[in-house]
Amino acid sequence: MMSDTIETITLQSPVSLVPEKPVEKRLTREKVNILWTGGFDSTFRMLQLSKMEVDVQPYYLCDKRKSEKNELKAISAITRDIIDHPETKCFIHPLAKINVSEIEPDLSITEAYKKLYANTLLGSQYDWLARFANSVPGLELSLEKSITSKAYICLWNYGKLLKIKNKETTYYVVDRENSSADLIKVFGNFRLPYPLYDITKLEMTEDYKELGFEHTMSTTWFCHTPIRNKPCGVCNPCKAVIGEGLTFRMPLSALKRHERLKKYGEHSLIGWHYKLHLKMGQLKAGAFSLLKFLRIQ
Ligand SMILES: [Zn+2]
Repeated sequence: MMSDTIETITLQSPVSLVPEKPVEKRLTREKVNILWTGGFDSTFRMLQLSKMEVDVQPYYLCDKRKSEKNELKAISAITRDIIDHPETKCFIHPLAKINVSEIEPDLSITEAYKKLYANTLLGSQYDWLARFANSVPGLELSLEKSITSKAYICLWNYGKLLKIKNKETTYYVVDRENSSADLIKVFGNFRLPYPLYDITKLEMTEDYKELGFEHTMSTTWFCHTPIRNKPCGVCNPCKAVIGEGLTFRMPLSALKRHERLKKYGEHSLIGWHYKLHLKMGQLKAGAFSLLKFLRIQ
């Protein structure tokens, strides 16, 4: 059962996560389940939801990626930002952390994912994300408009979407009458928040400002393989951020690495060696800090 795999963490804030509202008002509010990584897109949706009279349950899926500490730190800081904002109307439940290894297997979803992957190179996370959404139907997946996003291309190529409007929230769902069976298996349980699905990351920066959270943009975390605790500039999320014009979110070192990799050609032998060199550098840095630690002991 999925409930066995849910672990909640209580944020270390002395402030209540519940903005003061009468209980009966909270009971009638719409519940929104959302995947939150602390990244630019899902955080944007959290900020939008903060202005609505809704109950928000954020989920964080742990797959042992190097950036998890940074992502959870971002989530903690942004939760505080939302709570402290005078215009916040939503109720945020404590973050639910789920281990990917504990998500129920589902061969039919995995098979459908593999077929989509064969044609679109859709990221492997969509296998476990879809299996997780199977146990939390209606889970919000924060996809932005991006012609380089494999998920966006997949939805575009294999199906159609329907727009659903509730009292507070608006989102798209896969149109089951006009989409492929594989697309329905993988994306059929998700809600794709509106207008997030229709705007680019760059367009989102203006909305961050309008929502009164300009400063929160720099708190979000996106890089999967940070180097010295800063974005690397060469992993897929970093490439997406740079490619979509958000270079202000990158340290100079990351931009230089990105340029170098572009110059070498990512799939060339030199590009491959450069990426290996960066990985080895990270391993060396890890070994160095271990030695330093042992010396202190
Ligand atoms: Zn990166």
